[in-house]
Amino acid sequence: MNKTNDLIDLSPGQFIDFLKKENITRCYFIYDAKNEIVRTSHKQLLPIAEFIQNDKRDFMMHEGIFLQVSRKYDTLQGAFIHRTNRGQAAGGVRYWSYKTMEEYLRDGLRLAVGMTMKNALSGIWWGGGKGVMAQNPAVDKNNPMIRLLLYQEFGELMSSLRGCYVTAEDVGTDVTDMANVFMKTRFTTCIPPRLGGSGNPSVPTARGVISGMEAALEFLGTGTLSGKTVAVQGMGHVATPLIGYLFEKDVSRVVACDINPHIVKEVVEQYSGYDLNAKVVSLDDTSIFQTECDIFSPCATGAILNPKTIPTIKAKIVCGAANNQLEDSERDGQALFNKGVVYVPDFLTNRMGIVNCANEQYGYVNNDPFIEQHLQKDWEFSIYRVGLKVLQESRATKTPPAEVALRIANELSMQNHPIFGPRSQQIINSLVDDKWHETSFSDKKQII
Ligand code: NAD
Repeated sequence: MNKTNDLIDLSPGQFIDFLKKENITRCYFIYDAKNEIVRTSHKQLLPIAEFIQNDKRDFMMHEGIFLQVSRKYDTLQGAFIHRTNRGQAAGGVRYWSYKTMEEYLRDGLRLAVGMTMKNALSGIWWGGGKGVMAQNPAVDKNNPMIRLLLYQEFGELMSSLRGCYVTAEDVGTDVTDMANVFMKTRFTTCIPPRLGGSGNPSVPTARGVISGMEAALEFLGTGTLSGKTVAVQGMGHVATPLIGYLFEKDVSRVVACDINPHIVKEVVEQYSGYDLNAKVVSLDDTSIFQTECDIFSPCATGAILNPKTIPTIKAKIVCGAANNQLEDSERDGQALFNKGVVYVPDFLTNRMGIVNCANEQYGYVNNDPFIEQHLQKDWEFSIYRVGLKVLQESRATKTPPAEVALRIANELSMQNHPIFGPRSQQIINSLVDDKWHETSFSDKKQII
């Protein structure tokens, strides 16, 4: 990375001070594909545009980055739009703490690419994007009134972007926050069911993980889940129904762990009568990796597949819900491959979170076929079929599965939406033409 300036070294708070001094409330960075440069709304921000353009790690010709400063609580709010050939950019809004602008920008860029890949590999007609709000340490992030205002302002950002990005729930954001976003925009999903939303995606996500496991077992020619032993790290919202589905599929034993004793107690009670061996562990306890089992299922946090843990894995298959399981996607994907462990890429098997909410505006039917097809064996884009395809190609090309999945996803992400074509790119062009950066909040007064 070529450090061209000091702006990216500022904390988000200091960057906000800079923007205020320059009288900037909204600004953008747009990729001009024809001239292969990143353009910005303000000449004072050229160093950031150069930083983005020269980056070889996280910048992947993102179509647009739109930032705004919230009115009252000095919080940086952004929409990172990666690729929208398949449709409007879709992905959740993260509310997280960042030390520098570089960290903030990198997280948004990286997460937006991740959504492009996850959505494309799912066969859904959505592009990839992510919202990122930088927590201001001087603001109480747990205060409901502050959150109400912040998320309403984020909703205003969505409305101002005219639908090139449709937001959803992500780390640091909850369903109440999404209801607050919804008060200010139609361009959001993951709102509560009482407001017409799709509700908790954890159960479909668990079913998606089961599909991934079944694809891996089929690939290895080792039959079904029946009689197998599965080790599950984490016993939260996804893992709890996952354990239930595993018993339904007649596994012989589940070994599980969680850092939260209350959760362990509850889940053990829920599955009393089944062979569930669950224990409370400390945060850095990795003994679950060493469990003698057929499948290891990471369902807690990311970056848990790394040089320390991979050599200790006893399972032949790794397949779980956690996001970004590989600490370093190339290094650790290759290490699993070399060890002969079949790794089902997380972004393939945990897609049901976004699948469950992405099409919310089309309404609901029981056992929605547009959702169910992802969990069946006969649809070409189902988790099972894509899983098998990825693993077979991985074997044939001697390439780690995550790499194969990314290649397939990248190709799919270039396909244009069958009805609307590259409409979101046209929206972005319209925003630039209409000087989006000179717009502000719809109401200068405080909203609440
Ligand atoms: P959750 O917070 O309900 O559950 C995670 C559990 O892991 C918690 O109970 C926590 O105590 C436990 N945990 C944390 N660190 C641990 C450790 N070191 N060892 C053992 N247990 C640990 O979250 P969730 O909704 O069940 O999601 C699990 C993972 O799947 C997350 O990475 C999430 O991003 C990902 N994911 C979830 C969904 C969804 O629909 N909820 C969709 C896609 C991906």
